[in-house]
Amino acid sequence: MIIVMKPNSTAAEIGAVIAQVQKAGATPHPIYGEERTVVAVVGETRRISPESFMKMPGVERLTTISAPFKLASRESHPDDTIFQVGGYRIGGPEIIIMAGPCSVESRSQLLETAHAVKEAGAHILRGGAFKPRSSPYSFQGLGLKGLEILAEARDVYNMPIITEVMTPDAVAMIAEYADILQIGARNMQNFGLLHAVGRVQRPVLLKRGMMNSMEELLMSAEYILSGGNYQVMLCERGIRTFEKYTRNTFDLNAVPILKQLSHLPVMADPSHATGRWDAVTPMARAAIAAGADGVIVEVHPRPEEALSDGPQSLKPERFAELVKQVKRIAEAMDRIVPEPEPVQAMA
Ligand code: PEP
Ligand code: MN
Repeated sequence: MIIVMKPNSTAAEIGAVIAQVQKAGATPHPIYGEERTVVAVVGETRRISPESFMKMPGVERLTTISAPFKLASRESHPDDTIFQVGGYRIGGPEIIIMAGPCSVESRSQLLETAHAVKEAGAHILRGGAFKPRSSPYSFQGLGLKGLEILAEARDVYNMPIITEVMTPDAVAMIAEYADILQIGARNMQNFGLLHAVGRVQRPVLLKRGMMNSMEELLMSAEYILSGGNYQVMLCERGIRTFEKYTRNTFDLNAVPILKQLSHLPVMADPSHATGRWDAVTPMARAAIAAGADGVIVEVHPRPEEALSDGPQSLKPERFAELVKQVKRIAEAMDRIVPEPEPVQAMA
């Protein structure tokens, strides 16, 4: 249910509505829009009497949200959600490019990659320190050491960093280092983890599980939003199908559909969606043409030596070409790829 306040409603009137919702045993989530405030009401709503709310000063009307994902739905929040990460806005007209290696393998590998992607025009640096590998015998990531290397690269190249968090108890620690917390495809329905990231005030990139529907992705986002963290990006990274020539099948449909159903920014990961470097740039172009708010791309200076996901990693010069092409598509879509912040700004 949403309680739509009148455009000129006062803070006191909004406060009274919030208190009344709490008194009825439900949970209020006020959404302060440009024109008006709406109070989304979730949880136990049986004791909410629409008539009594309609009598309260400042209330214009009550409507129900038909989608099962209440706070993530466009119905509750018609404007796009826009938030800031470092010097960049996510979810606005800007197209944001995140790039870096699948895994942080060493200090020199990460700094070399960060230098290259920054120069090519990337805004945000990616790199896994805790890796969800299918085999326990594969490289599991450098852990804390990897986070320290990422933090160093952030300071040297003035790039916000995104890294994956796999367990609820690691959230607080990783949030100390990372500007964006990544929830991986394999953890999209790790509800304990979703609760934990819902309680921190750090932007989250929530990746779609390889076997999950768009609705399930939105329900997982709902866990995070209902915990009080509204800075969530949805990420399409490919789903499993019968097709064998690609690692996953890039479900490009998800981009316009998620944008329609939800106000949250939608990112695309053409690296995991295809699993092969030669398809990454075409699919990055396609994602932006379909309306994505940005891409996250794996880049490695020597993909043949990569400890994870080498076959889908772009060499730096190929990544530079991707950025050029994405800029041209962005222009056609009336979007802009912002200039990266200067390197010295954070020094
Ligand atoms: C990754 O970003 O390296 C990763 C493991 O992605 P996903 O969770 O989409 O497989
Ligand atoms: Mn990877």
